[in-house]
Amino acid sequence: MAETESAEMNRKRSGTDEVISDNDSKRKNAVRQMDPAAALALTRHEFGEHGGVNMSIEASATFTVMEPETLCRMFAGELGPDRDFYIYSRHFNPTVLNLGRHMAALEGTEAAYCTASGMSAISSVLLQLCSSGGHVVASNTLYGGTHALLSHFFPRTCNITTTFVDIGDLESVESAIVEGKTSLLYFESIANPSLKVANIPELCRVGHAKGVTVVVDNTFAPMVISPALLGADVVVHSISKFISGGADIIAGAVCGPAGLVNSMMDLHQGSLMLLGPTMNAKVAFELSERIPHLGLRMKEHSHRALVFAERLKKLGMKVIYPGLEDHPQHELLKSLTNKDYGYGGLLCIDMETVERANLLMTHLQNDGQFGFMAVSLGYYETLMSCSGSSTSSELSEEERKIAGISPGLVRMSIGYIGTLEQKWTQMEKALARFQEKHSLV
Ligand SMILES: *Cc1c(COP(=O)(O)O)cnc(C)c1O
Repeated sequence: MAETESAEMNRKRSGTDEVISDNDSKRKNAVRQMDPAAALALTRHEFGEHGGVNMSIEASATFTVMEPETLCRMFAGELGPDRDFYIYSRHFNPTVLNLGRHMAALEGTEAAYCTASGMSAISSVLLQLCSSGGHVVASNTLYGGTHALLSHFFPRTCNITTTFVDIGDLESVESAIVEGKTSLLYFESIANPSLKVANIPELCRVGHAKGVTVVVDNTFAPMVISPALLGADVVVHSISKFISGGADIIAGAVCGPAGLVNSMMDLHQGSLMLLGPTMNAKVAFELSERIPHLGLRMKEHSHRALVFAERLKKLGMKVIYPGLEDHPQHELLKSLTNKDYGYGGLLCIDMETVERANLLMTHLQNDGQFGFMAVSLGYYETLMSCSGSSTSSELSEEERKIAGISPGLVRMSIGYIGTLEQKWTQMEKALARFQEKHSLV
């Protein structure tokens, strides 16, 4: 016993606050109301084992103890990561937990934990919160993978069914929720790829009145929107996108109450512990080095997306960008965003047919060097794809129509490489080549 206490002291050199605890301290509450950059700056800074300014990577799969009793107490749940006791890296790992603390600060939630992909974060949290035979109400405009998970995979594998609704119509959301049966309301803060903006406070009000848990995918708007501060219970992320920023890592996160994160790690009932979509500690370390400049990157993504959207619109093109003042949801988005991060780095151009969409992308990539034809987003280079025939091809034609995805919709994730005017000149060159052969508008 004396040994365990002293081992604990030795191992705790960098801070005293609780790692994951159900206790709601005043400081944590204050952090949860803040600008995400301010909250991130207040997270505990982990120093390296040898006094390095960066933390050491805890690359161990397993952890040793001095006494066998300690292991028993860890498995009984008496000693955990909040006191610096670790069992095995499919369970909590210190480096992954450190990244989780940053994600919690970013989203203003009590806790967070990171996973091997965005899809594993989404599927794990849904399975934790919804049992066999359960029911989900979800937005009809969702990332293709999430849509497939809810419409095909869950009904087949665990009899969890989903009703898809237009979340812009609060009455239809309310009537789709079956009290006593529906456990979750799920939507994206800014939807992929329609860029439809969710009225998060109103949706939470409707959901909470009916006793459901509100889960929001904030992949398109880290820093820009803080769903948990607007009422959401759980925020999920594909870290593979803006948070990574390098298009080199697949990762995800679940941000929410400590009770939920701990339940997902439960040895008997936890979806993360038992399904095992574990993030590697080396990956967690690398991602934790990128979060400090996420705010700077988001500002530039947003700034350029707005400038390009305004200029493209002036040329008469059919641009969809909720940052534009005449976008029907502009005022709503303005009411939801954190100050100074803009309106996000994605814009869409509706070219109406897939042929015209493909031609535009070809000119932009091969004549203008404006960006790359590729799925995904959040990279420093501009990435563009025709959603209907790529990342939303999981939806049927009818479902795509309902989700507002025209066959010619080109989704662009605006990068920040080069100068803005250099990139605009490249865009103009590509548009001129398009115009030579076909009519632009
Ligand atoms: C990419 C994406 C996902 C899936 O994330 P992965 O990291 O690719 O598993 C989920 N939701 C949204 C909105 C996405 O854009």
